[in-house]
Amino acid sequence: MMEVAPLVLLIEDEDPMRRFLRTSLAQHNYRLVEAKTGEDGVVQARTHNPDIVLLDLGLPDIDGLEVTKRLRGWTTIPIIVLSARGQEHDKVIALDAGADDYLTKPFGTGELLARIRVALRHHARVDKEHPATSLTIGDVHIDFERRLVLVRDAEVHLTPIEYKLAAVLMRNAGKVVTHRQLLHEVWGPTHTNETQYLRVYMSQLRHKLERDPARPTYLVNEPGVGYRLRITER
Ligand code: CA
Repeated sequence: MMEVAPLVLLIEDEDPMRRFLRTSLAQHNYRLVEAKTGEDGVVQARTHNPDIVLLDLGLPDIDGLEVTKRLRGWTTIPIIVLSARGQEHDKVIALDAGADDYLTKPFGTGELLARIRVALRHHARVDKEHPATSLTIGDVHIDFERRLVLVRDAEVHLTPIEYKLAAVLMRNAGKVVTHRQLLHEVWGPTHTNETQYLRVYMSQLRHKLERDPARPTYLVNEPGVGYRLRITER
């Protein structure tokens, strides 16, 4: 764990939502900086250099998507988008523009804190100069150098596409990866609309990695958004 409490920048115009988050975060020893507008949020990010940003999509001046783009111009700090129902499309665009995750309002404190922990941990890991050569998530182990996948210590044969898909999800474990991002990473920039490929290969991958492919533990569908390799928390 970090020695100093992580600093959260909250960019949100609704007072009740800010009150809720202020209370929840204070109870769990996070430090907090707040902004009520997108422009101010960008300024606060530069001034305070927070560890993570919680970003409302609907803001009175520039929207959350624009804030995401401006922040991504100079920083890789984790951004968790706070979206309302009906902002499905905006949320996906924000994720494609570089946001790390999302929470749909209303959400509970437990869910919020879990997402913050995953985002901070992931950021600490990918921030290192050399990416991990192997990763273990629950029953699944991947060795990137040998292109080897083990499930409950037994080697599983994956096709090249299945391996690429598994590798992208493992490297982003805990985070949602959008359909567009997955298609781009695995099939390349000309196939970013072929979501049916994903359904087919994700089903194959579930049959190889999951105990019960019909009730996946790891390869979780985020309807209308993408997929997430779930980290089971202790
Ligand atoms: Ca709002």
